Amino acid sequence: MKIELVHGDITEIHVDAIVNAANTSLLGGGGVDGAIHKKGGKEILEECITIRNAQGGCKPGEAVITNAGLLPANFVIHTVGSVWNGGNNNETELLKNCYLNTLNLAVQKEIKTIAFPNISTGIYGFPKPLASKIAINTVKNFEMKNLIDTVIFVCYDYENFELYKENLH
Ligand code: ADP
Repeated sequence: MKIELVHGDITEIHVDAIVNAANTSLLGGGGVDGAIHKKGGKEILEECITIRNAQGGCKPGEAVITNAGLLPANFVIHTVGSVWNGGNNNETELLKNCYLNTLNLAVQKEIKTIAFPNISTGIYGFPKPLASKIAINTVKNFEMKNLIDTVIFVCYDYENFELYKENLH
């Protein structure tokens, strides 16, 4: 498995699957979630609604997969991050689960290239240095990493980009 770092917008990345930092409702929101639904069009939201009707949304740390509508990717994996609430409320475990459950779903769907945003580091308020370490360690230690060709960390803000650059070396 190769790991790459990109400073940019995840909606423009050509991969098998991009990851969305969704919320429990799966109905869209701000940040990267808003950007994905805005550019991807209604087809993504329609499938999210179908999933929501079948299983009642998505819990923090869990992941679901949909089409990618008008985006260049083939799929969107929606995972619900961990709201930072001081650090003693299982935040790190839940964020780790986002990466693990997303990667497990990717393997199940035979996805070979996948792009992650910096889950939980926007509206959910997770400290960026810690979030970047969890993301990198969880991906690097993923037990089925031989089944994935490339993971791209897509950093939208410069602070995250610098942190990933530092922590990936
Ligand atoms: P969360 O609610 O999980 O914190 P946000 O979308 O608010 O999710 O933020 C997660 C990260 O996504 C932030 O680091 C933010 O800078 C980044 N982000 C926002 N828009 C985009 C985009 N178009 N592509 C990639 N990352 C983005």
